Amino acid sequence: MSDDSPDDFGFSTLATRSGRHPTQEGEQSEPIFLTSSYTFASAAEAAARFSGEQPGNIYSRFTNPTVRAFEERLAKLERGERCVATSSGMSAILSTFMALLKAGDHIVSSRAIFGTTTVLLNQYMAKFGVETTFVPLADEAAWEAAIQSNTRLLFLESPSNPLTELADISRLAEIAHSAGALLVVDNCFCTPALQQPLVLGADVVIHSATKFLDGQGRCIGGAIVGSEELVGKDVYGFLRTAGPTMSPFNAWVFLKGLETLKLRMDAHCANALALAEWLAQHPRVERVHYPGLADHPQHALACRQQSGFGGIVSFEVKGGKDAAWKVVDAVKMISVTANLGDTKTTVTHPATTTHGRLTPEQRASAGIKDSLLRVAVGLEDFADIQADLARGLGG
Ligand SMILES: *Cc1c(COP(=O)(O)O)cnc(C)c1O
Repeated sequence: MSDDSPDDFGFSTLATRSGRHPTQEGEQSEPIFLTSSYTFASAAEAAARFSGEQPGNIYSRFTNPTVRAFEERLAKLERGERCVATSSGMSAILSTFMALLKAGDHIVSSRAIFGTTTVLLNQYMAKFGVETTFVPLADEAAWEAAIQSNTRLLFLESPSNPLTELADISRLAEIAHSAGALLVVDNCFCTPALQQPLVLGADVVIHSATKFLDGQGRCIGGAIVGSEELVGKDVYGFLRTAGPTMSPFNAWVFLKGLETLKLRMDAHCANALALAEWLAQHPRVERVHYPGLADHPQHALACRQQSGFGGIVSFEVKGGKDAAWKVVDAVKMISVTANLGDTKTTVTHPATTTHGRLTPEQRASAGIKDSLLRVAVGLEDFADIQADLARGLGG
């Protein structure tokens, strides 16, 4: 299973060359293996494969060479021993919980996580006897205070959506480990191009590959990265049994997405920083949330923990909801959608979309004001993004 990528290659070399296993055809680009099952040369070989005596493919719910190529490449980029790919980001999160927890276990989670993850925890994991306590992402004392004798897992995203708050991942890894719990980080916003949670002490990294890993808005997929023991054995064991595996076609799209990941993330970051700086001095803007601005409360942590500040910028418009909606309704190029991690810039009004089902009190305690807009900055020319947002801001 050797490929042509020693671990000491740089990030973009690993992103383009690791996980390649050219066949006898000598192909330069990775092939797509669209096959559900695999054949054996003899009854004895079939028996040896099924017993696990002989490694190799049996069935694509278990293994597929194109999916494996994506898994090997992402494992290298996240500096993990093992990666398993899943059908979506949500099935990556579900598989991690199902594999690593049992009834009676307790989770401490950041409050500021992807909305569907909150639903998964509150409505479904709770149904199977796994309770969750939610805490403010950046409040280390609250994380410590929430730990119980049955706490098995700490869960977070950093930076948070939409306010771009950060958690100190090394510090939370210490808190988790001293309680005998695991730290699981959803690294969707940064990708390994900007932040490598396993290097900072996390035990498991989760991805929605749908976002920046694809980066071009084409396929749904997910992944889990960590140790051979946790991911290669426990999570993989659940996945091959329960079946939320990644399709080979989607794996191929993500594999190609990874080849340009660093270039794209650097470009997202550059456009986002330019946007944040322009908005910060705009007379119609009350406040800008972006870790790359010197006045972000955790700017120093962002400089230490991330190699770039990310592609998400949020800002409060003077004049409340009406003024915010005016900006959304004035755009002619930017896509009005809650999706992110695409080449195309998107804008959303969190209070009436992604966070619309929260009560006004819950929104207030989460810091989601009616005047807040979130921009997932894409790869268009900066001047065009700026001009489009300027329309509704009155120049
Ligand atoms: C989109 C998203 C998910 C869910 O991923 P899907 O691929 O849509 O299932 C999970 N976490 C974060 C942070 C996301 O943005």
